[in-house]
Amino acid sequence: MNAARALFLDRDGVLIDYIPYLSRPEQVVLPNGAAPALRRWQEAGFLLIIITNQAGIGRGYFSEQDMEAVHERLKLLYGAEGVRFTDIFYCPHAPQDGCPCRKPSPWMLRQAAARYGLSLTDSYFLGDAPSDLEAALSAGCRPLLALTGRGRETQSQLSRFPAPIPVFAEVKDTVSLLENPPLP
Ligand SMILES: [Mg+2]
Ligand SMILES: [Zn+2]
Repeated sequence: MNAARALFLDRDGVLIDYIPYLSRPEQVVLPNGAAPALRRWQEAGFLLIIITNQAGIGRGYFSEQDMEAVHERLKLLYGAEGVRFTDIFYCPHAPQDGCPCRKPSPWMLRQAAARYGLSLTDSYFLGDAPSDLEAALSAGCRPLLALTGRGRETQSQLSRFPAPIPVFAEVKDTVSLLENPPLP
């Protein structure tokens, strides 16, 4: 039996329509078609794990309890469409805190891999920011860019990455990887 695989997912701009420092449950809006697509990934055997920087906590813009309320709303809306997230890893620190976890550090991806026995080389990380792609590459997992959220701005910086990174207009388009998986 091979090790488990994950589709790691950034939160803001990927799982939730992008609002900077989103902090209230009523702000949570799912991108069109995201939930059915994630159900396909789940049915293909991928664990769905959220990896998110929440510097708004470290900056004092909102509390950890505010974030938890957002996550409850997120889980409720996706859960209604049959999508279950295995875990949510978040960094609550501000950039100047010098913490080990904040993306682009691969720390949260490694924590998740250790906790769930994941093969990082067989896992994907779908994000919209350069820090998502950098974290994926540092962890040895496969980066994917969504052009939602900050994705278009990130796309303009792709030439600085060492390898081609698959780009998808929206989360829902990533299911093409399940139909045509790239060679290992
Ligand atoms: Mg994001
Ligand atoms: Zn941190």
